[in-house]
Amino acid sequence: MNEVKKPRKPLMFYYALALLAIVLFNSLLAPLLFSPQVTEVDYSEFMRMTQQKRIAEVMLQNNQIIFKDSAGKLYNTGLMNDPELTQRLYDSGAKFSSQIIKEMSPILSLLLSWILPLVLMIGLGQYFSKKLVEKAGGGAGSMMFGMGKSNAKVYVKSTTGIKFDDVAGEDEAKEILSEIVDFLHNPKKYEEIGAKMPKGALLVGPPGTGKTLLAKAVAGEADVPFFSISGSEFVEMFVGMGAAKVRDLFKQANEKAPCIVFIDEVDAIGGKRDGRIGGNDEREQTLNQLLTEMDGFDSSKGVVILAATNRPESLDPALLRPGRFDRRVPVELPDLQGREAILRVHARKVQTQDNIDYNAVARAAAGASGAELANIVNEAALRAVRDGRRKVTQADMEESVEVIIAGYQKKNRVMSDKEKMVVAYHEIGHALVAARQSESAPVHKITIIPRTSGALGYTMQVDEKEHFLLTKEELENKIATYTGGRAAEALIFGQITTGASNDIEQATRLARAMITRYGMSEEFGMVAMEQLTNQYLGGDTTLACAADTANRIDEVVRKLIATQYDKAYKILQDNKPQLHALAKFLYEQETITGEEFMDILHRTTPQIAAAQG
Ligand code: ADP
Ligand code: ZN
Repeated sequence: MNEVKKPRKPLMFYYALALLAIVLFNSLLAPLLFSPQVTEVDYSEFMRMTQQKRIAEVMLQNNQIIFKDSAGKLYNTGLMNDPELTQRLYDSGAKFSSQIIKEMSPILSLLLSWILPLVLMIGLGQYFSKKLVEKAGGGAGSMMFGMGKSNAKVYVKSTTGIKFDDVAGEDEAKEILSEIVDFLHNPKKYEEIGAKMPKGALLVGPPGTGKTLLAKAVAGEADVPFFSISGSEFVEMFVGMGAAKVRDLFKQANEKAPCIVFIDEVDAIGGKRDGRIGGNDEREQTLNQLLTEMDGFDSSKGVVILAATNRPESLDPALLRPGRFDRRVPVELPDLQGREAILRVHARKVQTQDNIDYNAVARAAAGASGAELANIVNEAALRAVRDGRRKVTQADMEESVEVIIAGYQKKNRVMSDKEKMVVAYHEIGHALVAARQSESAPVHKITIIPRTSGALGYTMQVDEKEHFLLTKEELENKIATYTGGRAAEALIFGQITTGASNDIEQATRLARAMITRYGMSEEFGMVAMEQLTNQYLGGDTTLACAADTANRIDEVVRKLIATQYDKAYKILQDNKPQLHALAKFLYEQETITGEEFMDILHRTTPQIAAAQG
């Protein structure tokens, strides 16, 4: 992509070139062209000639002796530690002169031998380091020279040119980020109301899903400059350099506000401070500087910091506090529709035949990231060129899917079809049990693309009304819903998987709370047997009862969950056609919305529709 504005070659560069030419000429060419023939002899020969008084003139240089014999022929020899040389030369009657080669003035020689090469080196060094930074997206190149200058690359606004339209799929992320765009367009509007814009947003997702692209698109949409730097660039430096770079980056950003600052791989600096002695001091200093800068600047100026990571759990909590990266934007792997859209976006840039079935290509590329899909299109174009064709064909696309997929399947990120099927039934199991208990849309959206969190499926729940008080029945229904995933696996495949571990945890926690804190069991009644020790951090509890009671609690919990599991199993059994239809849809589309869910549920449930109608 050519959005980087090509910087004008610095003046320095031309100076350096000119100087290089002069020096080369002086030191290499000029002597060859203008100096007369010189014969090299050894020192003993020189001594002999001195003794024989055959030498007319002698010139001592710092590492050689140049001398002329009486016939005017020139010789040279290496200089040796010879204390009596002057005396012998005097005795020989030779002339000590500097006529043959003029000694340079000390200032000139200093200039030529030291200052010039130095200036040259710095000039060239800076030029090449700039080049390096441009090419490699930053790096160690400039470390030697522009000490403390950040590598943040300025993408001048009109040339960023990337818009949200260039980012396919990722609607959720675009929605969140469009608020930032709006703010950058019209900061007054927010200021007048007194609304504070977030200073930073954290883009979270696996590599190649378009986080950088989204950040650029925010800058493009808002028509503001875009600075980008990678977290790893901060830490590959000498101690103290990272912090200086952060300071410099923010200084630049403040001058160019409103603007976007994008920090890629923020976990490289923002990793948890583990408090180990002799830990990475440099990183810690850099992180502290970043925190200080983020707290220090006034968000109303319009500097918005976007950071990207694929390991959000490893970030130092200090980074996530309010006023810092307090907004989290999930950027996940694309589902089928998303993949198709991404393929289309990239296919716009190449010549293709008209009849390409992008849906089929997207299907074949299950699990591919945006970057891999972009690669697939490019690979297809290369294939067409190799075969001497003018347009990319369906076969090119399909072939290159295989080439690219072979690469990433090794990385083991893609679910097998069978796994995908199990996950589809599992997720629909939850949703169907929930729907049958409340007779309303149980989910906003289910996706069966592996998530950053490690979950294979993902269900966005919607609670239509916010509940403060839950009835015993509602809690039991929730437990049944948690067990619905496992129940579906058992019902359809006759075997169970590890996919339900989180469900089991949640169900157990809820069931325990019902018994030990909410007084909802017949056996124990209203006795508090557990106390919440930390209401905020995960709700740890401590048991406050006899060991024997604890055993019985366990037994009651087990029974409660088992009963709800049986209920869920029965619901699914009674709704098997719906379960199949819904799971099939989810398996094929990888995503199902609440609306689609209810639609299919109603279509496959004629008896209820009839009864209602
Ligand atoms: P990340 O920063 O998440 O690692 P990038 O933004 O660098 O990913 O993506 C690399 C390239 O992959 C982009 O320049 C673009 O060509 C392509 N790409 C990734 N995601 C998308 C997307 N959602 N839509 C269009 N192209 C994408
Ligand atoms: Zn589950």
